[in-house]
Amino acid sequence: MSPNQNPPARDANLPGAHLEEAHLRSILSNVPDAMVVIDSQCIILSFSSAAEKMFGYAESELIGENVSVLMPSPDRERHDGYINRYLRTGDRRIIGIGRVTTARRRDGSTFPIELSIGEAVTPEGHVFTGFIRDLTETQQTERRLQDLQTELAHMSRVSAMGTLASALAHELNQPLTAIASYMEGARDMLDSADAETIEMVREALDEAAAQAMRAGHIVRRLRDFISRGDTERRIESLHKLVTEANALALVGAGERGVQVRVSLDPSADRVLVDRIQVQQVLLNLIRNALEAMEDSSDRRLVISADAQPGGTVQVKVEDSGPGLDPKVAEHLFEPFFSTKDTGMGLGLSICRTIIEAQGGKIWATRSSMGGTAFHFTLIAATTDDLDED
Ligand code: ADP
Repeated sequence: MSPNQNPPARDANLPGAHLEEAHLRSILSNVPDAMVVIDSQCIILSFSSAAEKMFGYAESELIGENVSVLMPSPDRERHDGYINRYLRTGDRRIIGIGRVTTARRRDGSTFPIELSIGEAVTPEGHVFTGFIRDLTETQQTERRLQDLQTELAHMSRVSAMGTLASALAHELNQPLTAIASYMEGARDMLDSADAETIEMVREALDEAAAQAMRAGHIVRRLRDFISRGDTERRIESLHKLVTEANALALVGAGERGVQVRVSLDPSADRVLVDRIQVQQVLLNLIRNALEAMEDSSDRRLVISADAQPGGTVQVKVEDSGPGLDPKVAEHLFEPFFSTKDTGMGLGLSICRTIIEAQGGKIWATRSSMGGTAFHFTLIAATTDDLDED
């Protein structure tokens, strides 16, 4: 017997109803995952003990309330619509599938969760049971692993850069030495400047110029080689991409009381991107925003996206932190520029490389919330792209 088929007994006068209710209560107070049972109007019918601990609400406060109180925007406003669409179309986007998303505690803070939903049809209508697992800890472990990976990636970057630097020194040494000796030769020849000598000086200067061009080619070739990262672009849902990156970045942010709002234009949802790389950009920007707000009393983060003319989508990540120092703003996207003790100063330069490689632009402005707003553009997917999908 699953609790889905037995929502809290409504008709307590029926024989056995009390027994069933007691049975359900004992399940609800012992399951380790938080469980929330709702009806087809999204009204909460029961709320397990684990859910009480996870969200900071007592069951008695929530019975009869709409389940959207447990969600941050935009799901909060859209949830009734999700259920109605499902009941109308039978199209399952989450029921029986599960997904990683963000939930909202009583104090307004948000945290990452894994949500699975079971459905049962009772004589009184549909009943949905949500099983919720708090991913904070799992993600903390993942984040530690990720930090380790970042460190490893850094080490390999450092050694790759070492190799690059010695290759560069070796390759450039020869044309630079040649330039220097042609220039010195030309200077000495000028001491006895007859017509024949002037001709030789001209030749020496031509050679010096040719060697300088060669050094320039070497530098350009190396730069092309480094920036030729393979990216695989597909049509992705921006909503899904942002929800996942946000859940990952928000680990621990709930404890710091950050209010997060996600406001994505539904008509700008389909984008042609390399998902992992764009999530890397979002993760960097969100973490930077959270770090910038560490000492602020007002901590708000807004992630929004709008369709732009010309087939692009503009994504904005803004915070209510202290904003950018003008001195910092000048060097923002330069590699190895950081104002943090432990910062590597690579985050934003990597963001720029990724966004530009995908045909977009990235820049920063002042946010209307007082802090910084990072904007970047992505290519919107067209119907032609859809055919390839
Ligand atoms: P890192 O985070 O390692 O310092 P980044 O390239 O990501 O490297 O950022 C460079 C610098 O830009 C940071 O050290 C910080 O001074 C500034 N910065 C980035 N994001 C913000 C933000 N949201 N608010 C204020 N300053 C920021």
